[in-house]
Amino acid sequence: MQYCVSEKIGVWENINFQKNPEAWKIPVFGRTFFPNCLPFACVCGIITAMFSDTHFHLLHTAERGVDMSEAFSALASRSAFFALEIGTHCDDLDARLAAADSAVSAVRDDALRSKLLDLLYFSAGIWPAPEAIGARFEQVAELERRISAARSADTLLSFKGKKLCALGECGLDHHWNPSGADNRSESDFSAAMLTGEAELFEMQLELARKFGLPVIVHSRDAFDGTLSCIANVGYDCGVIHCYSYGIAEARAFIDRGWYVSFSGAVTYTKRSKMPEMTDLLRFIPRDRLLLETDSPYLAPVPYRGKPNTPVLVELVYRYVADALNLPPETLSALVDANIRDLFGIGR
Ligand SMILES: [Zn+2]
Repeated sequence: MQYCVSEKIGVWENINFQKNPEAWKIPVFGRTFFPNCLPFACVCGIITAMFSDTHFHLLHTAERGVDMSEAFSALASRSAFFALEIGTHCDDLDARLAAADSAVSAVRDDALRSKLLDLLYFSAGIWPAPEAIGARFEQVAELERRISAARSADTLLSFKGKKLCALGECGLDHHWNPSGADNRSESDFSAAMLTGEAELFEMQLELARKFGLPVIVHSRDAFDGTLSCIANVGYDCGVIHCYSYGIAEARAFIDRGWYVSFSGAVTYTKRSKMPEMTDLLRFIPRDRLLLETDSPYLAPVPYRGKPNTPVLVELVYRYVADALNLPPETLSALVDANIRDLFGIGR
């Protein structure tokens, strides 16, 4: 069994602190912190919140009328540490990078633009749509070609360096695909679709292993299948995004080395289910917890039904922080540390 390498490396260890320590002094509430004091300062809630978003879809969000330059400006001005733009098709990376590049270029403030170039990251992967399942061998080959090109050349426009930091989203969806074992639609059931969907997922897990990338897993109404694909491949490095199962299922993923991410959907929890949700959130080890928007979907309350944006991730942090009895800034610092570990940011 292969586990994610977990190294506690922070941005403060990556910056060139030794050469010019004076330049890295940070005044906070009349006191001065050096970067190597930042983890302590963040955990103590002294530093202003950052609120990273580990899962959003730029093109889909822009299609719903959201001005992405405005959203990006807001993210950068709040000093967000990380925002991960997620792929769903084998060949969508170039269009997503071009859209990100133009949204960033439209930000007028030089300092904000430069912050954005630091905080934006990208994934590439194939969502289990029926067409992709049908053409899985060609599509995975195309995905591999695109990832190789993005990692080896300056195709990332302004986003140079290690900006492609994950594979996904990929996985199983037995809510949408007529292949579910849940008997939602027996007339639509297709054994070929079920097998093909699992093959598409397993091929991408193999590809992630080949590139040494963590995986963004989409798993809906498909816990058993997801676990069995992961076990078949034996690659346990990534996150179960938009987590929608219970404690027993979370334990199974966490025991194998996976992270678990919650979206704005947590804020939809009915009053009667709140204790269950609180138990689940408290069960997740703090070094395995991630948070996200899945923009433009699943806008947190009170924006439910409206287009979501990465900026609204703050409401997810506030909800989860409340359940965990933590200041939101402390939770933000914890999640950022997990992001560094899983995605290798700052190495
Ligand atoms: Zn998504």
